Parts: sequence; structure tokens; C-alpha cells
Amino acid sequence: MVERLRAMGGLEQTVLEAMLSVPRHLFLEPGLVAQAYSDNALPIGHGQTISKPSVVARCASVLLQSLGGRPERVLEIGTGCGYQAAILSRIAGEVYSIERIRALHELARTNLRALRLPNLRLLLGDGTTGAACGAPFDAVLSAAAGPDVPVQWLQQLRVGGIVLAPVGHPQRLMAYRKHAGGKIESWCVEDAHFVPLKSGVL
Ligand code: SAH
Repeated sequence: MVERLRAMGGLEQTVLEAMLSVPRHLFLEPGLVAQAYSDNALPIGHGQTISKPSVVARCASVLLQSLGGRPERVLEIGTGCGYQAAILSRIAGEVYSIERIRALHELARTNLRALRLPNLRLLLGDGTTGAACGAPFDAVLSAAAGPDVPVQWLQQLRVGGIVLAPVGHPQRLMAYRKHAGGKIESWCVEDAHFVPLKSGVL
């Protein structure tokens, strides 16, 4: 899988190494393990999916490239099964990951136990308001697409930080950089296909 990702080009070596070190099959139910290393989004229950490896690798690489190095503190919106959170914890100083569906939050906790990632904090809650307890972040990375970017994600960024999130319809993966004085610069990274960002906790 990692060799196929490398062949795509444009991905950071640190990210490819992180992907080599996190076995994706640990995050799938037994019936799907045979597909763990294909480049597919796969069901994880509750109508949600584990992201495609190429999408995880691309988002993590865009973060490193746009920040110019290793982020100190990252917030992931949408833990799901915990796969991307594990990858992020290998490339960042500290990772907060928030999930709104309790059963998935608990599934991620179980999946991640064996990996022992002391710099990863899993939160249960509605990530549309970010995670003030961990702010300010170098980066906020959303695994779910909303109509626009919640203002709290931008507020909880440090100056120079990046929000990377799928937004709009049709979806686009957008990057937002916060400048001194609060000015926000944004650009489109590519087309995107993520599950919807929803409100409330289940
Ligand atoms: N990061 C996962 C992808 C999970 S899919 C991976 O590693 O593959 C996106 C997740 O976002 C789903 O689990 C969904 O429940 C969650 N989500 C959607 N809206 C949310 C919100 N407002 N707050 C937190 N999580 C949310």
C-alpha cells in the first residue's frame, strides 16, 4: 500500500513512514481485513467510513507542507475508527481527536489501545465547536464536510496555523491560513468526497 502511495508522488516521507508503522487492518472488522490495504473507504458502522489511505496521506502531507514542518498540536474533527488519528500522532507533537458518535469514540479507543500513543487524546463531543480545551492548534483537520468552516476552528488556531477541511457542495478540500490580525487566506487543494459534518452527540 505504501509503495503505491509513494508512486502517487507529492507525499511527505514522514507521512509514508507513519503509514508504514500503523497497520490499517487493526481498524477494520474481521470481514473487511482482506481489503485493509486497498485504496478504499470502508464501512466502520453507524453509516461512517474509514478514510481512503491516499486521502489520509494527502491531507497529512498538505498539513506538513503548508506549516513548513512538524506541527506541535493538531485537532482532528471526526475520529471514526481512529486510523487517521494514529497517523497524525506519528507526525505531530500532540493530537486531539473529537468524535460525536459515542460508539465510534469507544471503538477508536479499543482499536488504538495496542498502539500505545501517549500523545493522542480522544474526545467525545460535537466538533463543530472545535475543542477549546486543547487550543491554540497549529492545525485543525476535518474528516467530515460541512457547508462552510465553523468560526471556532479558525478562532482556535494559532497565528500561522492551518485549517484543512472539505466544504461546500460539490465538496472541495479547502485550506485556510490564519494571519496576524485575524486575516484568513484560503485556497482549494482538490475535489473531495467526505461524509457529512453533523451537529450534536449521539
Ligand atoms: N478519521 C476517520 C474518518 C472517519 S469518517 C478515519 O481515520 O478514517 C468522519 C467521522 O466524522 C465520522 O465518524 C463522523 O461521525 C464524524 N463526525 C461528523 N460530524 C462530526 C462532528 N460535528 N463532531 C465530531 N465528529 C463528527
